[in-house]
Amino acid sequence: MNKIFRYRYYLARRTTQLLVLGGYFLANLYGWEMLKGNLSSSVLFGFIPLSDPFATLQTFLAGAVISADVLVGVAVVLFFYGVVGGRFFCSWVCPVNIITETAAALRRKLGLGEKDAPSLLSRQVRYWVIALTLLLSFVFSISAFEVISPIGMAHRGIIFGFGMGWFFLVALFFFDLFSQKYGWCGHICPLGGFNAIVGKYSLIKISHDAEKCVHSQECFLVCPEVGVLSSVGKKSYIVTGKECIKCARCIEVCDSGAFEVSIVGIARQLKEGA
Ligand code: SF4
Ligand code: SF4
Repeated sequence: MNKIFRYRYYLARRTTQLLVLGGYFLANLYGWEMLKGNLSSSVLFGFIPLSDPFATLQTFLAGAVISADVLVGVAVVLFFYGVVGGRFFCSWVCPVNIITETAAALRRKLGLGEKDAPSLLSRQVRYWVIALTLLLSFVFSISAFEVISPIGMAHRGIIFGFGMGWFFLVALFFFDLFSQKYGWCGHICPLGGFNAIVGKYSLIKISHDAEKCVHSQECFLVCPEVGVLSSVGKKSYIVTGKECIKCARCIEVCDSGAFEVSIVGIARQLKEGA
């Protein structure tokens, strides 16, 4: 299979991530209106507000008044997450994903543990981090995660210059490399967890066809959220696990074509007990 076609989703994701960063960079440098702001709050094409629901919730709990623009921005983002899925942000937009996917690929190359490795942290930790973040925001009147977010650090580092934030990003890379597969994005990041919750019933999913499955296990090696693949090889199913980041790596590595993008209705997901 042609390599460009095989890795079409990977190439499209990296292109999108770089275009988003490029949009912010050019807005900062030349004042272009294409994409102004940051990954928490932006204006697209000079008139479409985009506001991160998790950042907005923290700001609200910290005691700030949320303006009508920001609320409209939250509604736009929630609509998008409702259709495509909240964790689409992780694999198609977030710059940290480039770091953590690189660390995961290097782990595979170095044979640092993929399948059946004892897990240092539970994947549920991120949901506790969400609760802690919201509590701290309320108690200390600050947007708690935004202060220390590696996503904000990566964004600021790339757009405004290389500050101290890069030290933390390098630390994050080595944490993911040596601790466990997708240690940060798959276990700790509260934004990824929050977006998983709000995008749970999104319409765009991945489907698996058990008839085509040859049990090569390739999907398990690359999937950042292996829990969502628990039925692979046993039955045909729609990957309804909310943690799926829609990276399409499973589609790319499966030579038998058992995975594909699927558009399903909320009713069907509810019927299947998603
Ligand atoms: S889990 Fe967090 S850091 Fe990782 S890609 Fe998603 S939003 Fe970015
Ligand atoms: S199931 Fe596929 S699309 Fe979803 S996270 Fe895993 S590899 Fe990515």
